[in-house]
Amino acid sequence: MINEYKKESRLLIQKALEQSFISVPAQFRQEFFRYQQAQLFKFFLQVNLVAQLAYFSYIFADWFMLPDIGFIAFLVKGSYTLCMTLITFAIYKYSKSNLVFDLMLPASIVGATAIWFWLVNLSQSPDVPIYLYASLVFIVLANLCIQIRFKAAVIISMLISLIMYIGVYFAVSKDLHQLQIFALIYNPVLMFSLYISWNSTQKSRIVFLHNKLDQLNREALDIMAHTDVLTGLNNRRQFMQLANYHIHSQNKLQHPTALLIFDVDRFKTINDQFGHFVGDFVLQQIADTCRHVLRSQDILARFGGEEFIILLPNTNLHQALEIAERLRKSIENSGVKLETQQELKFTVSIGIAEFNAKNRDLHHVIQLADKALYQAKNMGRNAISTYKTAS
Ligand code: GH3
Ligand code: MG
Ligand code: MG
Repeated sequence: MINEYKKESRLLIQKALEQSFISVPAQFRQEFFRYQQAQLFKFFLQVNLVAQLAYFSYIFADWFMLPDIGFIAFLVKGSYTLCMTLITFAIYKYSKSNLVFDLMLPASIVGATAIWFWLVNLSQSPDVPIYLYASLVFIVLANLCIQIRFKAAVIISMLISLIMYIGVYFAVSKDLHQLQIFALIYNPVLMFSLYISWNSTQKSRIVFLHNKLDQLNREALDIMAHTDVLTGLNNRRQFMQLANYHIHSQNKLQHPTALLIFDVDRFKTINDQFGHFVGDFVLQQIADTCRHVLRSQDILARFGGEEFIILLPNTNLHQALEIAERLRKSIENSGVKLETQQELKFTVSIGIAEFNAKNRDLHHVIQLADKALYQAKNMGRNAISTYKTAS
């Protein structure tokens, strides 16, 4: 039953992780983007700023290699870098979308590439054919930074490549031989940088999916630690924790609180006559009946072998008696179908005690309810007894 906890989700993630091409299953995609946002937002800010600084620093190379357009390069690249830095900060401050941020740098590189080639084409410097190759850095930078969307990386890489080919074509005065040499050097860099981009997006998905799987497994273990395997009810430890929390949380005990313990009558006989399996079904049936009869705020647990315990918040002794009676009757009226198609009937005996100024300790009140239960058994079973009547 517990291994069933979010089993489909866990299997889905495991399957996704086994694929050669990892993709985040649709149902986790929103969470993946939120996770990336938390993880990567600062990185995006840093990488954008560093890249813009790097781009701006090329004005020194421009001045050195393309002196005839050095000043205009300074003006244009300076303005562009300033604009992009302001946009980066604005996105960081006002946009909560990491997808926008993820694509901010590659998109700004498209513009930077266009500006670069426009400036190169303005220059008459003999160094232009060498300088063209420095543009390879754009494609590497663009792909190095993409973390989330590989498809976007491909589209942006194609755009940058198109701009570069057109730019080079004109910069080498439409010399196809030069263009061919550029292509031979550029294409492997493009492939390699796309691979880096693909690898980064894959890695970030793998890390997310592993984290998600760990989280679901932890939750499953947590449930396992506080749930009874047979009935799916709280186990004893969880009951003690929840009940103590209720009792000790402020002001709660200003409202009446009752405790109810019940035990299956002659359960040993059921086991002996029909076998342990049937006994288990009986316990499961009783758990189901309790779930139907009780209110959502009631704390129900399997306390031991065939003993159950219930903390009833905001319930005085009189109301607790009514609830106990409803429970007793419902269990008496329920049954388990045997293989012979006969219905096996069973009953429970119930002991009730209440918390008050004198009895505030959980262990003590449990003992009182247990005494009442003992008395109910002595009354002939299928009965209810409260501690008051017992004292
Ligand atoms: P009484 O009316 O006095 O309560 O009699 P009883 O036979 O119910 O009481 P007893 O304590 O003698 O028997 C309890 C039995 O519950 C003994 C044990 O084998 C059985 N039991 C405990 N846990 C489980 C369980 O998980 N499954 C099954 N099938 N039986 C269990
Ligand atoms: Mg017992
Ligand atoms: Mg019993």
